[in-house]
Amino acid sequence: QLTMKDIPAPHVIKGKLDEYVIGQDKAKKVMAVAVYNHYKRAFLGGSDPDGVVIEKSNILMIGPTGSGKTYLVKTLAKLLDVPLAIADATSLTEAGYIGDDIESVVSKLLAAAGNDVKRAEKGIIFIDEIAKKKQTNTRDVSGESVQQELLKLLEGSTVEVPVGSNQKNAMTPMATVNTDNILFICGGAFPDLENIIKERLTKKSSMGFGAALKDSYDNDPDLLSHVTNEDLRAFGMIPEFLGRLPVNVTLKGLDKDMMIRILKEPKNAILRQYEKLLALDEVKLVFEEDALSWITEEALKRGTGARALRAILEEFMLDIMYEIPKDPNIGSVVVTRPYLEKKGGPLIQVREG
Ligand code: ADP
Repeated sequence: QLTMKDIPAPHVIKGKLDEYVIGQDKAKKVMAVAVYNHYKRAFLGGSDPDGVVIEKSNILMIGPTGSGKTYLVKTLAKLLDVPLAIADATSLTEAGYIGDDIESVVSKLLAAAGNDVKRAEKGIIFIDEIAKKKQTNTRDVSGESVQQELLKLLEGSTVEVPVGSNQKNAMTPMATVNTDNILFICGGAFPDLENIIKERLTKKSSMGFGAALKDSYDNDPDLLSHVTNEDLRAFGMIPEFLGRLPVNVTLKGLDKDMMIRILKEPKNAILRQYEKLLALDEVKLVFEEDALSWITEEALKRGTGARALRAILEEFMLDIMYEIPKDPNIGSVVVTRPYLEKKGGPLIQVREG
């Protein structure tokens, strides 16, 4: 049974998120309040004596690839200690088609909850890639039919799902799961949404100034935060679906400064992880600031957000992690920009004494 004191206050949730997720302050704040309200609603259990029915605060999360959408949700679920299921909308299909049916997301959650129905019913389901570019001539994969089929789950309904399997057949036991108190978060990169927003903003403004205004919006890193339901409908989202995702969260594309902070600052920052690994060999690992700059510049070129950071580091850390344990005299390794530019090796110092 959920009690009010089990639910951390928004500022506490936000504070915990801050330890792991860099930047995205507005998104973290909106999420913290939405989650707090969501669990308050679950606590009331639809039995408020004043007859006030609190509606579900499912969340729509919009942000470029690698801006931390999945990471934010994962961090949130971990700090709330609730089960989490992550699904990709593009792999979900209408019943009867090849692929996972919509209800498979609920079986996933049940599995994440160790098949404990009560626990699953308080969990979080994150459906990513909810808005792949609108496709007009191909079969509607993650388009309207998936949105249609999600409606019932989002608003709260009872579903029969197989336990311990994602396939329904005569042999698998079934469980009944109520989705009423499950928090649904739908996320997507919404490619081209920025252009839709830009177009609306410029059209609204008076004649003649359009072009100049358009330029000013071109350089607005916060453009996504101006999104309205009208824009999302123009994108291809159906109104009923949007109606069931009343909380909108937008994440910013990462810039160089944020990427450097992501490398260094989170509790489980990538650099800290490598430092820890080498510390076990009693070797001190140092990254020069210039080297970090190079890594983030390279990551920005790849256009996959912070995801590129780890990939790039892996490439360069491989040799270091292979070679260092060969020589017990090595005391420290400095990763320099010339090493990353393949103009030399890392700086290696032998142990003193
Ligand atoms: P998305 O779901 O938006 O495509 P992810 O959440 O998968 O992006 O991000 C990829 C990785 O980048 C995460 O696992 C995390 O390590 C890192 N990352 C992204 N954004 C941030 C951030 N704001 N703070 C800390 N780490 C981040």
